[in-house]
Amino acid sequence: MHDLVIRQGTVIDGTGRDRRHADIAVTGGLISAIGNDIEPGRRELDANGMIVTPGFVDIHTHYDGQATWDAQLAPSSLHGVTTAVIGNCGVGFAPVKPGTSDFLINLMEGIEDIPGTVLAEGVRFNWESFSEYMGALEAIPHALDIGTQVPHTALRFYVMGERGALHDEIPTASEIGRMGDLLEEALNAGALGFTTSRTTKHRAKDGRLVPSLSAREPELAGLALAMKRAGRGVLEVNSDFGPGEFETMEEAAALAGRPLSCLLVQVRQHPRLWRETMDWIHAMRARGMAASAQVASRGIGVMMALETTLHPFAGHPAWLEMAHLSPAERYARLKADGDLRRRLVQERYDDPVSRSVEEMLPRTFRFGSDLNYEPDPTANVVAEAAAAGKSVWAYTLELLMAEGGKGMLMHPIENYADDSLDTVREMLTDEAAVMGVADGGAHVGIICDASQPTFMLSYWGRERQRGRLPLELLVRKQTLDTAACYGLTDRGVLSPGKKADINIIDPENINLRLPEVIYDLPTGGKRIMQKAIGYRHTFVSGVETLRNDTPTGALPGRLVR
Ligand SMILES: [Zn+2]
Repeated sequence: MHDLVIRQGTVIDGTGRDRRHADIAVTGGLISAIGNDIEPGRRELDANGMIVTPGFVDIHTHYDGQATWDAQLAPSSLHGVTTAVIGNCGVGFAPVKPGTSDFLINLMEGIEDIPGTVLAEGVRFNWESFSEYMGALEAIPHALDIGTQVPHTALRFYVMGERGALHDEIPTASEIGRMGDLLEEALNAGALGFTTSRTTKHRAKDGRLVPSLSAREPELAGLALAMKRAGRGVLEVNSDFGPGEFETMEEAAALAGRPLSCLLVQVRQHPRLWRETMDWIHAMRARGMAASAQVASRGIGVMMALETTLHPFAGHPAWLEMAHLSPAERYARLKADGDLRRRLVQERYDDPVSRSVEEMLPRTFRFGSDLNYEPDPTANVVAEAAAAGKSVWAYTLELLMAEGGKGMLMHPIENYADDSLDTVREMLTDEAAVMGVADGGAHVGIICDASQPTFMLSYWGRERQRGRLPLELLVRKQTLDTAACYGLTDRGVLSPGKKADINIIDPENINLRLPEVIYDLPTGGKRIMQKAIGYRHTFVSGVETLRNDTPTGALPGRLVR
C-alpha cells in the first residue's frame, strides 16, 4: 500500500510535456507510481480540478543567515518552493575566522539589505569552516531542502584577512592556493557551487566595493582549477557584464569544466545589454559548455510604504525626528499633526535619500489590491499628482497614509526599462533562461520578490491580458530547469523514483497576497512579507509542509549535499 495517493489531478510534470490526468502515488518519500489504476494509499487526496506540479526549486535565495535561526524559511516556503539554494552573489557566512563575522555581516547588510543588527543577533557563528557551517544548518530542521554555495567574499576575507576586503588587493600565489584548497574541500563536503560578485551595484554597508569585483584572472583561475579538481559545483556570478567580462567568466568556467550560471536583469542605463549577455550564453552553449541565465518573472520591485526602509520621506528631517517611535505611534502622529504633514510635503531637502527617491518617482506607481506589477507607465505618481492638482509629495503622502497607514507604492527598479514586462517575457521564454532572481531572504525592508514562483503561474499563466505562457513551460522553468542547473537529478520532475516534492495548486485561484511589513526577525527586525493563496498542499519528501496556504509545522527539509 502506498503512503499517499493523489487522485485525478492535472499533472504538469516539470518536463514541459503536455498536462495529463493521472494519479500519483508516494511511498517512503519518493514518487512510487503515476498512472490511472493505482492501488489505494494510506492517505488519499482528491486533486480533481487541481494542477499537480513538482515542488519548485528556487536556485537564487539569500537565506544564509535566516536558515540558521528560522525553520520555516518564509516567504519561499509559502510559494511552493521545496528546495532553496543559498550563498548566491558571492556573499555568505562561511568560512569565517572567530571574531571576524562583522565583515561578512557588513557585506550582507550592504549588498542584500539584511539589517546588521538582525544578523549579529540571529546568526550564532558557531562554525569556522564551510563544512562546519553546513553542519550547523543541518542541525536545524527546515520546512524545505537547502543547498549551499561557497561565497567568494567570505573565502577571500578568510584567507587574506583585512586585505581580502580591499578589491584592489591581489592575493599571493599561496593565498590563491589556500582559497582553492578550501573551495575544493567545501565542494567535496557537498556545497553546490562557488559564487562571485562582479557588479559595482554591490557595496558593503560602509560603501566599499565588494572585494571580488576585480579579482584578477590568476585568482579566478585558481578557484576554477579547484572546481575542476573537485569535479563538481556551479559557478554563479552576479556581474555588470561590461567589456571583457564575458570572456573572463567563460574562461573561468572552461578552466573549471563546470556550468556557469549568470544573474540576468535588464538595467535602465543599458536596456539591451542583457540581450548581449544572453547571446554570449548561447554562444557558450554552442561551444558545448553548460551555461544558463537566471532571470526574473517581473520587475524587481522596490516597495515603498511608511514602514518600509525606503519611501518618499525616509530621508526627511521631520521623518527622522520620529525614528524612536513605533510605526503605530508615527502613523498616529502623522494623522494628528497637520504641521508635521505640511513640513514633510513643503520643506524639501537635498539629502541622498530624498534625491534618489525624487529620481524614482516618475517611474513609481500606486500598488494596491490589484497587485499590478505591470503598471501603465502614464499612471505614475508624478502624472497622477499633476492631474489631481497636487504636489507629488502631498499626493504620495496621502497614498502612503491610506489603508490605515499601510498604503504602498511600487518602483520597478530593473526589468522595466521598456515600460512593460515584454522584455521579461523575452527572457523567460529563452531556452537558456531559468527562474532565478527571487532573492528570498534578501532586501527584506525594500523588496519582496521571493513570491515570484507564484507570480509565474498566476500572472504569466492566467492574469496577463496578452502574451500569456503555457503552465507547462512556467512550471518547467522553476522545476526541471532549475534543478538541472545545479545537477539535482533527484527532483524537479514528477516521475517514479524521484523525490516526492509536490505541489497541489488551485489553478483558478492561485495568487499573491498584498505585501505587508512584519516584525518577526531577531531583535524585532522588520521584513516585507508576501503570502500566497491557492496552494492546497505542498509536500517535501512526501511530508506535507503546507495545507491550504498554511504551514503544517512539519520540517522534513534536509541539507542537499
Ligand atoms: Zn543575489
